[in-house]
Amino acid sequence: MKNTLIANFVMCALLAIISPVLDAQQNNLAYAVAWKQTAAEHAALYHQGFNVAKMQVEAAISKRSDFQKPLAVISDVDETLLLSNSYWGYMVGSGSDFFNDAEWDDWVEEDLFTPSPGSIEFAEFCRLNDVDIFYVTNRDQGESTFDLARRNLQTAGFGSVESDHLIVLRESSNKEIIQQQIMRDFEVVVLLGDNLNDFSRDYYVTDVDERRLLASENRSDFGVKNIIFPNPTDGHWLRAIFGESEPPASNTNREILHSAASRSAWQKAQN
Ligand SMILES: [Mg+2]
Repeated sequence: MKNTLIANFVMCALLAIISPVLDAQQNNLAYAVAWKQTAAEHAALYHQGFNVAKMQVEAAISKRSDFQKPLAVISDVDETLLLSNSYWGYMVGSGSDFFNDAEWDDWVEEDLFTPSPGSIEFAEFCRLNDVDIFYVTNRDQGESTFDLARRNLQTAGFGSVESDHLIVLRESSNKEIIQQQIMRDFEVVVLLGDNLNDFSRDYYVTDVDERRLLASENRSDFGVKNIIFPNPTDGHWLRAIFGESEPPASNTNREILHSAASRSAWQKAQN
């Protein structure tokens, strides 16, 4: 009896020690966030995107006199110009495996964004060549959303961001209306984003295959007028899986994620 009690006590103590390790190992965000935090490939893809964007802008500058309107670039902000690695690191570190809007709002106020690799240099290139950058972001931190977005950009090194060049969409992620307004007055050379919805509302669909088919149909736009940056933690690609852009942490959603990840799984023959 005494030995059994001791054995149980030892087992409970071991589980208490091991459990946090198991939880950490089971965090669904860990792979994606580790890649964002460490992979040189992640940085290289940003450089590649901005290099391609710069080539397109240079080409437009070389024939500037052909255009009736001044040249401009429209860019998304989060995960395009600004990275939020410390938010995602915090989420993994605190055992969260799905985006949390309340935590995000608290984090945004801390002003801890970093510029994405190559973004500051690209913005400076545009500034030196009189090419306007319009920052179009879908965010909602209440009444302070605009001021926070501008402060985040300025702290990260984007210089003084003029009020009429920062557009904050609080109510909707549909960017097409504002894009069309900008295009009336400017020759927009490229659009930059980490979400296909940053280019066209057509991608706001809740079907994985439909979304991928659209990307395939629009293949000639990528690297030409639409420059896409990598984001494996958030965006409307999640909406296509879950039916909503910010699925809450739940076992049902963990199962949906697992099934999405294994959708083309090898059916290994059993001998
Ligand atoms: Mg974004």
